[in-house]
Amino acid sequence: MAGRYDVVVIGAGAAGMMCAAVAGRRGKRVLLVDHATKLAEKIRISGGGRCNFTNINAGWQNFVSENPHFCRSALSRYTAQDFLTLVKKYRIAHHEKHRGQLFCDDSSEQIIRMLKDECDAGGVEWRMPCKVTGVEQTAEGFVVGLDTGPIAAANVVVATGGLSIPKIGATDLGYRIAKSFGLNMIEPRPGLVPLTFDGPSWQPFVPLAGIALEVEVETGSKKGKGAKYGHFREDLLFTHRGLSGPAILQISSYWQPGTPIVLNLLPELDVAEELIASKTSVKKQLGNILSQWLPARLAEGLLTANGFAPDARLPDMADAKLRKLGDAINRWSIVPTGSEGYKKAEVTLGGIDTRELSQQTMMANKVPGLYFIGETVDVTGWLGGYNFQWAWASGYVAGNSIE
Ligand code: FAD
Repeated sequence: MAGRYDVVVIGAGAAGMMCAAVAGRRGKRVLLVDHATKLAEKIRISGGGRCNFTNINAGWQNFVSENPHFCRSALSRYTAQDFLTLVKKYRIAHHEKHRGQLFCDDSSEQIIRMLKDECDAGGVEWRMPCKVTGVEQTAEGFVVGLDTGPIAAANVVVATGGLSIPKIGATDLGYRIAKSFGLNMIEPRPGLVPLTFDGPSWQPFVPLAGIALEVEVETGSKKGKGAKYGHFREDLLFTHRGLSGPAILQISSYWQPGTPIVLNLLPELDVAEELIASKTSVKKQLGNILSQWLPARLAEGLLTANGFAPDARLPDMADAKLRKLGDAINRWSIVPTGSEGYKKAEVTLGGIDTRELSQQTMMANKVPGLYFIGETVDVTGWLGGYNFQWAWASGYVAGNSIE
Protein backbone atom coordinates (compact mmCIF):
# COMPACT_ATOMS: atom_id res chain seq x y z
CA MET A 1 0.00 0.00 0.00
CA ALA A 2 1.28 3.52 -0.84
CA GLY A 3 2.33 5.79 2.06
CA ARG A 4 -0.37 6.82 4.51
CA TYR A 5 -2.18 10.13 3.98
CA ASP A 6 -3.51 12.38 6.71
CA VAL A 7 -6.67 12.65 4.64
CA VAL A 8 -8.17 11.32 1.42
CA VAL A 9 -10.83 13.65 0.03
CA ILE A 10 -13.24 11.85 -2.32
CA GLY A 11 -14.74 14.25 -4.89
CA ALA A 12 -12.82 17.21 -6.36
CA GLY A 13 -15.81 19.52 -6.74
CA ALA A 14 -16.49 22.77 -4.91
CA ALA A 15 -16.46 21.42 -1.34
CA GLY A 16 -13.73 18.82 -1.91
CA MET A 17 -11.23 21.26 -3.44
CA MET A 18 -11.85 23.83 -0.70
CA CYS A 19 -11.37 21.20 2.01
CA ALA A 20 -8.22 19.73 0.41
CA ALA A 21 -6.65 23.19 -0.02
CA VAL A 22 -7.35 24.22 3.59
CA ALA A 23 -6.04 20.92 5.02
CA GLY A 24 -2.99 21.05 2.71
CA ARG A 25 -2.14 24.61 3.70
CA ARG A 26 -2.24 23.44 7.35
CA GLY A 27 0.58 21.03 6.50
CA LYS A 28 -1.55 17.88 6.17
CA ARG A 29 -0.69 15.27 3.57
CA VAL A 30 -3.76 15.29 1.35
CA LEU A 31 -4.89 13.10 -1.55
CA LEU A 32 -7.80 14.36 -3.67
CA VAL A 33 -9.59 11.69 -5.75
CA ASP A 34 -12.22 12.11 -8.46
CA HIS A 35 -13.61 9.76 -11.11
CA ALA A 36 -14.32 12.51 -13.65
CA THR A 37 -12.07 13.22 -16.61
CA LYS A 38 -12.75 16.97 -16.46
CA LEU A 39 -12.24 18.94 -13.24
CA ALA A 40 -15.22 20.48 -11.41
CA GLU A 41 -17.80 20.35 -14.20
CA LYS A 42 -20.54 21.69 -11.92
CA ILE A 43 -18.59 24.83 -11.16
CA ARG A 44 -17.87 25.20 -14.90
CA ILE A 45 -21.55 25.10 -15.93
CA SER A 46 -22.79 27.07 -12.93
CA GLY A 47 -24.38 30.48 -13.25
CA GLY A 48 -24.65 30.12 -17.02
CA GLY A 49 -20.82 29.74 -17.23
CA ARG A 50 -20.12 32.72 -14.93
CA CYS A 51 -20.50 30.94 -11.54
CA ASN A 52 -22.72 32.64 -8.99
CA PHE A 53 -19.99 31.84 -6.46
CA THR A 54 -21.63 33.21 -3.31
CA ASN A 55 -24.37 35.40 -1.93
CA ILE A 56 -23.27 38.23 0.33
CA ASN A 57 -26.47 37.88 2.38
CA ALA A 58 -26.11 34.12 2.99
CA GLY A 59 -27.51 33.04 6.36
CA TRP A 60 -29.05 29.88 7.79
CA GLN A 61 -32.53 31.09 6.76
CA ASN A 62 -31.58 30.58 3.09
CA PHE A 63 -31.20 26.81 3.48
CA VAL A 64 -33.61 23.86 3.52
CA SER A 65 -32.84 21.01 5.95
CA GLU A 66 -34.62 18.75 8.42
CA ASN A 67 -32.38 20.47 10.96
CA PRO A 68 -32.34 24.12 9.78
CA HIS A 69 -29.89 25.46 12.41
CA PHE A 70 -27.19 22.89 11.63
CA CYS A 71 -25.51 25.02 8.95
CA ARG A 72 -25.18 28.12 11.19
CA SER A 73 -21.84 27.22 12.69
CA ALA A 74 -19.98 26.55 9.40
CA LEU A 75 -21.60 29.56 7.69
CA SER A 76 -20.48 31.85 10.49
CA ARG A 77 -16.93 30.49 10.53
CA TYR A 78 -16.43 30.82 6.78
CA THR A 79 -18.57 33.64 5.46
CA ALA A 80 -19.36 34.96 2.00
CA GLN A 81 -16.93 37.82 2.79
CA ASP A 82 -14.19 35.26 3.43
CA PHE A 83 -14.71 33.69 0.00
CA LEU A 84 -14.88 37.15 -1.55
CA THR A 85 -11.52 38.00 0.02
CA LEU A 86 -10.07 34.93 -1.73
CA VAL A 87 -11.67 35.93 -5.05
CA LYS A 88 -10.20 39.43 -4.71
CA LYS A 89 -6.76 38.01 -3.82
CA TYR A 90 -6.84 36.21 -7.20
CA ARG A 91 -8.04 39.43 -8.88
CA ILE A 92 -11.11 37.74 -10.34
CA ALA A 93 -13.37 40.47 -11.70
CA HIS A 94 -16.93 40.04 -10.43
CA HIS A 95 -20.22 41.83 -10.02
CA GLU A 96 -23.43 41.69 -7.99
CA LYS A 97 -26.29 40.72 -10.26
CA HIS A 98 -29.40 40.61 -8.11
CA ARG A 99 -30.11 40.41 -4.37
CA GLY A 100 -26.54 39.79 -3.20
CA GLN A 101 -25.68 37.23 -5.92
CA LEU A 102 -22.00 37.53 -6.91
CA PHE A 103 -20.90 36.35 -10.37
CA CYS A 104 -17.58 36.28 -12.25
CA ASP A 105 -17.46 38.95 -14.96
CA ASP A 106 -15.69 36.54 -17.32
CA SER A 107 -15.84 32.80 -16.62
CA SER A 108 -16.41 30.17 -13.95
CA GLU A 109 -13.10 28.66 -15.11
CA GLN A 110 -11.44 31.36 -12.99
CA ILE A 111 -12.97 29.92 -9.80
CA ILE A 112 -11.82 26.41 -10.77
CA ARG A 113 -8.29 27.70 -11.46
CA MET A 114 -8.26 29.57 -8.15
CA LEU A 115 -9.22 26.44 -6.19
CA LYS A 116 -6.68 24.35 -8.11
CA ASP A 117 -3.96 26.93 -7.31
CA GLU A 118 -4.99 26.86 -3.64
CA CYS A 119 -4.67 23.04 -3.69
CA ASP A 120 -1.24 23.33 -5.32
CA ALA A 121 -0.17 25.84 -2.67
CA GLY A 122 -1.18 23.25 -0.04
CA GLY A 123 0.80 20.49 -1.80
CA VAL A 124 -2.36 18.45 -2.48
CA GLU A 125 -1.77 15.22 -4.46
CA TRP A 126 -4.28 14.12 -7.11
CA ARG A 127 -5.72 10.89 -8.49
CA MET A 128 -8.01 11.78 -11.38
CA PRO A 129 -9.71 10.15 -13.17
CA CYS A 130 -9.77 7.38 -10.59
CA LYS A 131 -12.57 5.05 -9.56
CA VAL A 132 -13.34 4.64 -5.85
CA THR A 133 -14.45 1.13 -4.90
CA GLY A 134 -15.19 1.70 -1.20
CA VAL A 135 -14.05 2.91 2.21
CA GLU A 136 -13.28 0.62 5.15
CA GLN A 137 -12.36 1.40 8.71
CA THR A 138 -9.18 -0.13 10.16
CA ALA A 139 -7.47 0.02 13.55
CA GLU A 140 -5.26 2.89 12.26
CA GLY A 141 -7.93 4.82 10.37
CA PHE A 142 -9.32 3.96 6.93
CA VAL A 143 -8.49 2.17 3.71
CA VAL A 144 -9.90 3.76 0.55
CA GLY A 145 -10.25 1.31 -2.34
CA LEU A 146 -9.14 2.86 -5.64
CA ASP A 147 -8.88 1.21 -9.05
CA THR A 148 -5.14 1.92 -8.81
CA GLY A 149 -4.90 0.04 -5.46
CA PRO A 150 -5.82 0.64 -1.80
CA ILE A 151 -4.74 3.83 0.04
CA ALA A 152 -4.39 4.17 3.81
CA ALA A 153 -5.58 7.40 5.45
CA ALA A 154 -6.06 8.68 8.97
CA ASN A 155 -9.18 10.58 7.82
CA VAL A 156 -11.60 10.43 4.90
CA VAL A 157 -13.71 13.34 3.63
CA VAL A 158 -16.65 12.45 1.41
CA ALA A 159 -17.41 15.31 -1.01
CA THR A 160 -19.09 13.48 -3.89
CA GLY A 161 -22.04 15.89 -4.17
CA GLY A 162 -25.67 15.05 -4.94
CA LEU A 163 -27.49 13.21 -7.71
CA SER A 164 -28.33 16.09 -10.04
CA ILE A 165 -27.04 16.11 -13.63
CA PRO A 166 -25.88 12.47 -13.80
CA LYS A 167 -24.46 13.01 -17.29
CA ILE A 168 -21.58 15.06 -15.83
CA GLY A 169 -20.63 12.47 -13.22
CA ALA A 170 -23.03 12.67 -10.26
CA THR A 171 -23.25 9.38 -8.33
CA ASP A 172 -24.67 8.10 -5.06
CA LEU A 173 -21.24 7.03 -3.75
CA GLY A 174 -21.42 9.42 -0.78
CA TYR A 175 -24.79 8.02 0.29
CA ARG A 176 -23.52 4.43 -0.09
CA ILE A 177 -20.49 5.19 2.09
CA ALA A 178 -22.74 6.80 4.72
CA LYS A 179 -25.07 3.79 4.73
CA SER A 180 -22.16 1.33 4.96
CA PHE A 181 -21.15 3.08 8.23
CA GLY A 182 -24.74 2.92 9.52
CA LEU A 183 -25.48 6.66 9.17
CA ASN A 184 -29.07 7.76 8.74
CA MET A 185 -30.13 9.42 5.48
CA ILE A 186 -32.85 11.93 4.64
CA GLU A 187 -34.40 10.61 1.42
CA PRO A 188 -32.79 12.50 -1.49
CA ARG A 189 -34.99 14.25 -4.08
CA PRO A 190 -34.47 16.82 -6.82
CA GLY A 191 -34.41 20.49 -5.76
CA LEU A 192 -34.25 23.81 -7.65
CA VAL A 193 -36.05 22.04 -10.47
CA PRO A 194 -38.82 22.94 -12.99
CA LEU A 195 -42.25 21.53 -12.11
CA THR A 196 -44.42 19.64 -14.60
CA PHE A 197 -48.19 19.75 -15.11
CA ASP A 198 -50.55 17.77 -17.32
CA GLY A 199 -54.21 16.77 -17.65
CA PRO A 200 -57.19 18.67 -19.10
CA SER A 201 -57.01 21.57 -16.60
CA TRP A 202 -53.47 22.35 -17.82
CA GLN A 203 -54.39 22.34 -21.53
CA PRO A 204 -55.19 26.12 -21.75
CA PHE A 205 -51.65 26.87 -20.51
CA VAL A 206 -49.74 24.61 -22.93
CA PRO A 207 -49.55 27.28 -25.69
CA LEU A 208 -48.13 29.82 -23.24
CA ALA A 209 -44.54 28.46 -23.31
CA GLY A 210 -42.07 31.35 -23.21
CA ILE A 211 -44.24 33.81 -21.25
CA ALA A 212 -42.47 35.21 -18.18
CA LEU A 213 -43.70 37.52 -15.40
CA GLU A 214 -42.88 38.39 -11.80
CA VAL A 215 -45.12 36.58 -9.31
CA GLU A 216 -45.42 35.57 -5.69
CA VAL A 217 -45.44 31.84 -5.02
CA GLU A 218 -45.96 29.87 -1.84
CA THR A 219 -46.38 26.30 -0.70
CA GLY A 220 -46.63 24.28 2.49
CA SER A 221 -47.73 25.32 5.93
CA LYS A 222 -46.23 27.29 8.80
CA LYS A 223 -48.15 25.26 11.38
CA GLY A 224 -47.17 21.96 13.01
CA LYS A 225 -43.88 20.39 14.05
CA GLY A 226 -41.44 20.05 11.16
CA ALA A 227 -43.82 21.96 8.85
CA LYS A 228 -42.16 23.42 5.77
CA TYR A 229 -43.33 26.69 4.23
CA GLY A 230 -41.77 28.51 1.30
CA HIS A 231 -42.63 31.93 -0.08
CA PHE A 232 -40.80 33.78 -2.87
CA ARG A 233 -41.27 36.77 -5.15
CA GLU A 234 -39.40 36.01 -8.36
CA ASP A 235 -39.91 35.52 -12.11
CA LEU A 236 -42.13 32.71 -13.39
CA LEU A 237 -41.65 31.10 -16.81
CA PHE A 238 -44.21 28.98 -18.70
CA THR A 239 -42.52 26.00 -20.42
CA HIS A 240 -43.68 23.27 -22.81
CA ARG A 241 -44.10 20.83 -19.90
CA GLY A 242 -45.12 23.14 -17.06
CA LEU A 243 -43.57 25.96 -15.07
CA SER A 244 -40.00 27.10 -14.45
CA GLY A 245 -38.06 30.30 -13.79
CA PRO A 246 -36.52 31.35 -10.46
CA ALA A 247 -39.92 31.44 -8.67
CA ILE A 248 -40.57 27.77 -9.46
CA LEU A 249 -36.99 26.57 -8.89
CA GLN A 250 -37.07 28.18 -5.45
CA ILE A 251 -40.48 26.83 -4.45
CA SER A 252 -39.65 23.33 -5.78
CA SER A 253 -37.29 22.86 -2.82
CA TYR A 254 -40.24 23.30 -0.43
CA TRP A 255 -42.90 21.54 -2.51
CA GLN A 256 -44.15 18.13 -1.36
CA PRO A 257 -45.54 15.82 -4.09
CA GLY A 258 -49.35 15.78 -4.18
CA THR A 259 -49.70 19.23 -2.59
CA PRO A 260 -50.48 22.54 -4.36
CA ILE A 261 -48.37 25.59 -5.03
CA VAL A 262 -50.22 28.91 -4.87
CA LEU A 263 -49.35 31.68 -7.33
CA ASN A 264 -50.21 35.35 -7.16
CA LEU A 265 -49.87 36.47 -10.76
CA LEU A 266 -50.50 40.14 -9.94
CA PRO A 267 -49.03 40.76 -6.48
CA GLU A 268 -49.54 44.54 -6.69
CA LEU A 269 -53.25 44.35 -7.52
CA ASP A 270 -56.39 43.06 -5.78
CA VAL A 271 -57.90 41.88 -9.06
CA ALA A 272 -61.45 41.23 -7.79
CA GLU A 273 -61.71 44.65 -6.11
CA GLU A 274 -60.27 46.36 -9.19
CA LEU A 275 -62.75 44.62 -11.53
CA ILE A 276 -65.77 45.28 -9.31
CA ALA A 277 -64.81 48.94 -8.85
CA SER A 278 -64.44 49.36 -12.62
CA LYS A 279 -67.82 47.83 -13.49
CA THR A 280 -69.67 51.13 -13.81
CA SER A 281 -66.91 53.12 -15.51
CA VAL A 282 -65.35 50.60 -17.91
CA LYS A 283 -67.38 49.02 -20.69
CA LYS A 284 -64.61 46.83 -22.00
CA GLN A 285 -64.40 43.06 -22.56
CA LEU A 286 -62.82 41.01 -19.79
CA GLY A 287 -59.92 39.82 -22.00
CA ASN A 288 -59.00 43.42 -22.88
CA ILE A 289 -59.12 44.54 -19.24
CA LEU A 290 -56.89 41.71 -18.01
CA SER A 291 -54.44 42.35 -20.85
CA GLN A 292 -53.71 45.77 -19.31
CA TRP A 293 -52.03 43.94 -16.45
CA LEU A 294 -51.02 40.52 -17.85
CA PRO A 295 -49.57 39.27 -21.17
CA ALA A 296 -52.59 38.95 -23.52
CA ARG A 297 -52.10 35.21 -24.19
CA LEU A 298 -51.90 34.52 -20.45
CA ALA A 299 -55.06 36.56 -19.81
CA GLU A 300 -56.87 34.52 -22.44
CA GLY A 301 -55.56 31.20 -21.03
CA LEU A 302 -56.66 32.13 -17.52
CA LEU A 303 -60.15 33.14 -18.67
CA THR A 304 -60.58 29.91 -20.68
CA ALA A 305 -59.27 27.75 -17.81
CA ASN A 306 -61.76 29.35 -15.42
CA GLY A 307 -64.81 29.13 -17.72
CA PHE A 308 -64.97 32.81 -18.76
CA ALA A 309 -65.43 33.93 -22.34
CA PRO A 310 -62.62 36.42 -23.18
CA ASP A 311 -65.19 38.66 -24.92
CA ALA A 312 -67.59 38.74 -21.91
CA ARG A 313 -68.29 42.37 -20.97
CA LEU A 314 -67.36 43.57 -17.49
CA PRO A 315 -70.61 45.44 -16.65
CA ASP A 316 -72.62 42.24 -17.30
CA MET A 317 -70.66 40.16 -14.76
CA ALA A 318 -71.94 39.36 -11.25
CA ASP A 319 -69.62 40.45 -8.40
CA ALA A 320 -69.40 36.84 -7.16
CA LYS A 321 -68.06 35.72 -10.54
CA LEU A 322 -65.52 38.54 -10.61
CA ARG A 323 -64.38 37.53 -7.11
CA LYS A 324 -63.86 33.98 -8.40
CA LEU A 325 -61.81 35.33 -11.29
CA GLY A 326 -59.83 37.56 -8.95
CA ASP A 327 -59.01 34.53 -6.80
CA ALA A 328 -57.90 32.55 -9.83
CA ILE A 329 -55.34 35.29 -10.54
CA ASN A 330 -54.32 36.37 -7.02
CA ARG A 331 -54.51 32.88 -5.46
CA TRP A 332 -54.03 30.37 -8.31
CA SER A 333 -53.68 27.01 -6.56
CA ILE A 334 -52.32 24.18 -8.74
CA VAL A 335 -50.97 20.73 -7.98
CA PRO A 336 -47.85 19.86 -10.03
CA THR A 337 -47.79 16.38 -11.55
CA GLY A 338 -44.10 16.07 -10.77
CA SER A 339 -40.74 17.64 -11.51
CA GLU A 340 -38.20 17.45 -14.35
CA GLY A 341 -36.09 15.25 -12.04
CA TYR A 342 -32.36 14.96 -11.52
CA LYS A 343 -31.50 15.59 -15.16
CA LYS A 344 -32.66 19.21 -14.78
CA ALA A 345 -32.36 19.76 -11.00
CA GLU A 346 -29.62 22.15 -9.87
CA VAL A 347 -29.34 20.43 -6.49
CA THR A 348 -30.33 17.38 -4.46
CA LEU A 349 -32.43 17.88 -1.34
CA GLY A 350 -31.89 15.51 1.59
CA GLY A 351 -28.73 13.44 2.01
CA ILE A 352 -26.73 12.56 5.12
CA ASP A 353 -28.86 13.36 8.18
CA THR A 354 -27.17 16.32 9.89
CA ARG A 355 -27.92 14.76 13.29
CA GLU A 356 -25.19 12.26 12.42
CA LEU A 357 -22.56 15.02 12.03
CA SER A 358 -20.79 17.57 14.22
CA GLN A 359 -21.80 21.06 13.12
CA GLN A 360 -18.37 22.41 14.13
CA THR A 361 -16.31 19.93 12.08
CA MET A 362 -18.66 17.95 9.76
CA MET A 363 -17.24 14.72 11.24
CA ALA A 364 -19.58 11.76 11.75
CA ASN A 365 -20.35 11.52 15.48
CA LYS A 366 -20.11 7.74 15.53
CA VAL A 367 -17.19 7.33 13.07
CA PRO A 368 -14.22 9.51 14.20
CA GLY A 369 -12.17 10.57 11.17
CA LEU A 370 -15.00 10.28 8.62
CA TYR A 371 -16.37 13.60 7.31
CA PHE A 372 -19.21 14.56 4.92
CA ILE A 373 -19.31 17.99 3.27
CA GLY A 374 -21.11 19.96 0.55
CA GLU A 375 -24.17 18.65 -1.19
CA THR A 376 -23.88 15.10 0.23
CA VAL A 377 -25.31 16.56 3.46
CA ASP A 378 -28.97 17.41 4.12
CA VAL A 379 -28.35 21.15 3.72
CA THR A 380 -29.67 22.70 0.48
CA GLY A 381 -29.45 26.36 -0.39
CA TRP A 382 -31.83 28.61 -2.26
CA LEU A 383 -31.06 29.64 -5.80
CA GLY A 384 -28.57 32.53 -5.81
CA GLY A 385 -25.06 31.45 -4.74
CA TYR A 386 -26.08 29.83 -1.45
CA ASN A 387 -25.16 26.28 -2.48
CA PHE A 388 -21.59 27.21 -3.30
CA GLN A 389 -21.33 29.15 -0.02
CA TRP A 390 -22.35 25.96 1.81
CA ALA A 391 -19.76 23.97 -0.19
CA TRP A 392 -17.00 26.48 0.72
CA ALA A 393 -18.04 26.78 4.38
CA SER A 394 -18.50 23.06 5.06
CA GLY A 395 -15.26 22.29 3.16
CA TYR A 396 -13.39 24.92 5.13
CA VAL A 397 -14.50 23.74 8.58
CA ALA A 398 -13.70 20.10 7.76
CA GLY A 399 -10.30 21.02 6.26
CA ASN A 400 -9.53 23.08 9.32
CA SER A 401 -10.44 20.33 11.81
CA ILE A 402 -8.61 17.35 10.35
CA GLU A 403 -5.99 16.03 12.77
P1 FAD B 1 -19.90 18.82 -6.70
O1 FAD B 1 -19.41 20.16 -7.01
O2 FAD B 1 -21.00 18.21 -7.51
O3 FAD B 1 -18.64 17.84 -6.72
C1 FAD B 1 -18.74 16.46 -6.51
C2 FAD B 1 -17.52 15.81 -7.12
O4 FAD B 1 -17.54 14.42 -6.76
C3 FAD B 1 -17.53 15.86 -8.64
O5 FAD B 1 -16.30 16.34 -9.12
C4 FAD B 1 -17.77 14.42 -9.06
O6 FAD B 1 -17.09 14.06 -10.27
C5 FAD B 1 -17.20 13.65 -7.88
N1 FAD B 1 -17.78 12.32 -7.72
C6 FAD B 1 -19.08 11.97 -7.74
N2 FAD B 1 -19.22 10.65 -7.62
C7 FAD B 1 -17.96 10.13 -7.54
C8 FAD B 1 -17.45 8.81 -7.44
N3 FAD B 1 -18.28 7.75 -7.42
N4 FAD B 1 -16.12 8.64 -7.38
C9 FAD B 1 -15.27 9.71 -7.42
N5 FAD B 1 -15.70 10.99 -7.54
C10 FAD B 1 -17.04 11.20 -7.58
N6 FAD B 1 -24.77 26.74 -6.92
C11 FAD B 1 -24.49 28.04 -6.63
O7 FAD B 1 -24.29 28.39 -5.47
N7 FAD B 1 -24.40 28.97 -7.65
C12 FAD B 1 -24.61 28.65 -8.97
O8 FAD B 1 -24.46 29.49 -9.88
C13 FAD B 1 -24.99 27.30 -9.27
N8 FAD B 1 -25.29 26.95 -10.54
C14 FAD B 1 -25.58 25.65 -10.82
C15 FAD B 1 -25.92 25.30 -12.12
C16 FAD B 1 -26.21 23.99 -12.44
C17 FAD B 1 -26.61 23.62 -13.84
C18 FAD B 1 -26.14 22.98 -11.43
C19 FAD B 1 -26.40 21.54 -11.73
C20 FAD B 1 -25.82 23.34 -10.11
C21 FAD B 1 -25.57 24.66 -9.78
N9 FAD B 1 -25.28 25.04 -8.48
C22 FAD B 1 -25.01 26.35 -8.20
C23 FAD B 1 -25.19 24.06 -7.38
C24 FAD B 1 -23.70 23.75 -7.09
O9 FAD B 1 -23.06 23.44 -8.32
C25 FAD B 1 -23.58 22.56 -6.13
O10 FAD B 1 -24.38 22.75 -5.00
C26 FAD B 1 -22.12 22.41 -5.70
O11 FAD B 1 -21.30 22.15 -6.81
C27 FAD B 1 -21.99 21.26 -4.69
O12 FAD B 1 -20.63 21.11 -4.38
P2 FAD B 1 -20.08 19.68 -3.97
O13 FAD B 1 -18.60 19.84 -3.89
O14 FAD B 1 -20.80 19.15 -2.81
O15 FAD B 1 -20.43 18.73 -5.20
